[in-house]
Amino acid sequence: MSERQGANDGRATGLVVAVDGPSGSGKSSTARGVASRLGLAYLDTGAMYRAMTWALLQRGTDVSDADAVAREAESVVIVSGTDPLGPTIEADGTDVSEPIRGSDVTDHVSPVATVARVRELLVDLQRRTIADVLEAGRGIVVEGRDIGSVVAPDAPVKVYLVADAAARAARRAAETGAADTSATAESLARRDQIDSTRAASPLVRADGAVQVDGTHLTLEQVIDTVVALVDEVGDPA
Ligand code: C5P
Repeated sequence: MSERQGANDGRATGLVVAVDGPSGSGKSSTARGVASRLGLAYLDTGAMYRAMTWALLQRGTDVSDADAVAREAESVVIVSGTDPLGPTIEADGTDVSEPIRGSDVTDHVSPVATVARVRELLVDLQRRTIADVLEAGRGIVVEGRDIGSVVAPDAPVKVYLVADAAARAARRAAETGAADTSATAESLARRDQIDSTRAASPLVRADGAVQVDGTHLTLEQVIDTVVALVDEVGDPA
């Protein structure tokens, strides 16, 4: 246990930190960094939508058919690990950490995430995961698009992380090793458009969320900013 974790044991009980924002804004690195610094669990809800998409593609489901997606999604089994130092994600018993980052899944995940039944199933799973962590006497950092608005609207700390489009595309291209930043920018813009205009829980800045613009900040500075917000709320338990 780190010194920091020891110092936050009391406060970490019952603490939920919601980190939302558009694709490529640095949510994952920030959420993992905050969780490991504060000794909290970590849940990547985007990975869950990606795992669902992977499983549907694997089963040969027509992912452009919302009814077929809703039907097939019922039987997909997704299991997420919550260790920020080694997050894991399984779909139908297969470790899908790598394939969910491929372009096939990335191209289809946002349409799958617009299907209301998929959202119901995954939001339910996310809430159960959060409840398990809290029951075990720990806190959790949860990242996604609708955490502060839908999944955990009572979270004592809500962050809406943004960065300008060029910075987001450059960051995502560096992560994926893509040579063509403009193709990455187009892919991000397409997902942003679908994610923020869908009927079911669109990407929005939740009530009470603090907007953090990471465009000109290092990762460490963004993590420091979020940790300072956690420090401000004190012990929610
Ligand atoms: O965060 P990431 O880019 O991995 O998320 C992949 C996709 O999953 C998003 O573009 C969005 O369509 C969907 N998503 C969502 N709600 C969340 C997390 C992700 O709709 N809470």
